Amino acid sequence: MKKDLLSTEDFEPPSPTVGLGESKVAKNSECPPQVKTQKKNANVISIQKISSVPRFRTGPRSLAFRKGFFPEVSLAEWNNWHWQLKHRIRDMESLSKLLLLSEDERLALSRESHPLPVAITPYYASLLDKENPAQPVRRTVVPVTDEYFTSPGEAEDPLGEEHDSPVPGLVHRYPDRVLFLVTDFCSTYCRYCTRSRIVGGGKGSPVNAAQWEKAIAYIERTPAVRDVLFSGGDPLTLSDEVLEWLISRVRNIRHVELLRIGTKVPVVLPQRITPALVRMLKKYHPIWMSIHFTHPDELTPETNQACERLADGGIPLGSQTVLLSGVNDDVETMKKLVHGLLKIRVKPYYLYQCDPILGSSHFRTPVEKGLEIIRGLRGFTTGYAVPHYVIDAPGGGGKIPLLPEYFIGRSGDDLLLRNYEGKVFSYPEPARRDGTERSAEAIGQEAGAAP
Ligand code: SF4
Repeated sequence: MKKDLLSTEDFEPPSPTVGLGESKVAKNSECPPQVKTQKKNANVISIQKISSVPRFRTGPRSLAFRKGFFPEVSLAEWNNWHWQLKHRIRDMESLSKLLLLSEDERLALSRESHPLPVAITPYYASLLDKENPAQPVRRTVVPVTDEYFTSPGEAEDPLGEEHDSPVPGLVHRYPDRVLFLVTDFCSTYCRYCTRSRIVGGGKGSPVNAAQWEKAIAYIERTPAVRDVLFSGGDPLTLSDEVLEWLISRVRNIRHVELLRIGTKVPVVLPQRITPALVRMLKKYHPIWMSIHFTHPDELTPETNQACERLADGGIPLGSQTVLLSGVNDDVETMKKLVHGLLKIRVKPYYLYQCDPILGSSHFRTPVEKGLEIIRGLRGFTTGYAVPHYVIDAPGGGGKIPLLPEYFIGRSGDDLLLRNYEGKVFSYPEPARRDGTERSAEAIGQEAGAAP
């Protein structure tokens, strides 16, 4: 019973350094500062009203994995996000104790340098199939040698973010919003990451407090910015204290109306979504959150609970999913994912065509795959479950939505539209009061935008 009660994570010792960068964490990999402080604060736990301390539910899969591979680790430690961060799996030796590595995975892991570091939280490792290297979620985090082959059209920074950065760590591409890259650190590295050039101590300039100040100063002097998206790296790997400092600084800027956080933490490190974190975030509403889901195997009791806490904290949740070959590029998998997401109060928001980063060809699908998925969802399930399928235009063109052809032409004054079953219907256009006609392009856009 006592063990269970200590399976809590409501304590957030201050640490201004953790999450500043992979290199920093690597230096501190022995014990991140928060963990050290947490041990020091052990008494704090004992003076809490135990009955009021919430517990974190642990799913059967991660329970069995913990017993099998970390038998000496208590449930309290397992559900402590600092423990999870400290024990990330980062090399072939550790990974080979958990998985039967294929020859190709071994070859990739044994390379001296990777385009992106390897890191997998023990929790996320519990979702990987021990024997099957083709298992979708395993493919997203375990490197293979295909990562080292570059195809035509691929680039380090395919979206041209550096070009749209008025100050380091801030991308101002669209008129009213900016992307604030607050850290280069992630708890788990996705092998197809668009920002592999900067995350995990990549080639970009390391994120530091001086850079944050410059970014905040830019937002302060740019009244057109009404929406700030915190991203990285993963902002939720920062300590509560650092994150609150950043959020409150931006929230205090009069013309900033909306704060958003882009994160994969609820999926790879759900233990991080503590009541204390949610209480802090609630102070700065409106805050919206985009969560990076990839596959239905990620919909576990832990992730469910993390999303439940965030949603109960009044944070609207959307999912951003990258379309990945052999991972989620079929209608049934995607349907299972979007249905599961709605059940945990996450709106499937974007389905991204995979960006052409270096070494991504084994993950990229033809665009027709994405259209096929949208065709397989639209009309066959609730509209809330259907994400926007977009390509982030290489070179900095921004997100461009793609739709199957529902508008097929005109017959006299009528529009000809194809429904989800492929049947054609005509819609009588109202006569325009000014006697002018709408262009075919305008009609197409209106028809395409229909929910
Ligand atoms: S969580 Fe996001 S930023 Fe981090 S590795 Fe994955 S895709 Fe990249």
